[in-house]
Amino acid sequence: MRNLVIAIDGPVGSGKSTAARRVAELLGYTYIDTGAMYRAVALKALRAKIPTDATEKLVALAASARIDLRAQNGTQRVLLDGEDVTAAIRTPEVSQAASKVAVIEGVRQVLVAEQRRAGASGGVVMEGRDVGSVVFPDAQLKIFLTASDEVRARRRWLEHQQKGDAIDLARTLEEIRERDRRDAGREHSPLVRAEGAVLVDSTAMEPEEVARLIAMLAREIAAPQLR
Ligand code: C5P
Repeated sequence: MRNLVIAIDGPVGSGKSTAARRVAELLGYTYIDTGAMYRAVALKALRAKIPTDATEKLVALAASARIDLRAQNGTQRVLLDGEDVTAAIRTPEVSQAASKVAVIEGVRQVLVAEQRRAGASGGVVMEGRDVGSVVFPDAQLKIFLTASDEVRARRRWLEHQQKGDAIDLARTLEEIRERDRRDAGREHSPLVRAEGAVLVDSTAMEPEEVARLIAMLAREIAAPQLR
């Protein structure tokens, strides 16, 4: 099968990570979570006590951060300057800070350059907010994945419950709405349905159905003679 670039974008909790990971597994592709890179920059900034409006400092910090995404037994480990921060970047505090550093154009430029390098030879499933619109506007398959606010909040809340984090559902709904507003309302590379992106609403779908649908579309594009 040809080495495609598959771009999956969408709001918080739409099921991007689960779908992207599984599609990569089904097709033997590499999974790349671009949100993890914004999260790693945010974590580094929080630790260094750099405020999220200190633009120049944050651009320099993003440029100096060594972010390494490693596939390991079907999961992805995130290394920041050599330290495994896979769990540390998943807190609500880092989520909000990530969407604040992500409004900075210079930070985006640094990370987008890395993402383009990572996907240059294809065979990747890359998920985020601007993959189909900015990072790889020529991706052969673009998906805009969404779901109702309530279902997205419940999914995120369940993830926190499973990790033992005490956070209530109403608060989670508020947090995801706040982050969506910031992601969709920013000036640079806002969350949009990219031109040509297939809209998939996962509200009433199982994760496996979403993944199989995307893998099927990819196979059609990669081997049209089999259609
Ligand atoms: O996808 P995830 O929720 O981990 O992303 C964290 C934050 O990183 C998002 O809320 C968004 O602000 C930012 N992000 C982005 N562009 C991407 C991926 C993530 O702006 N391609």
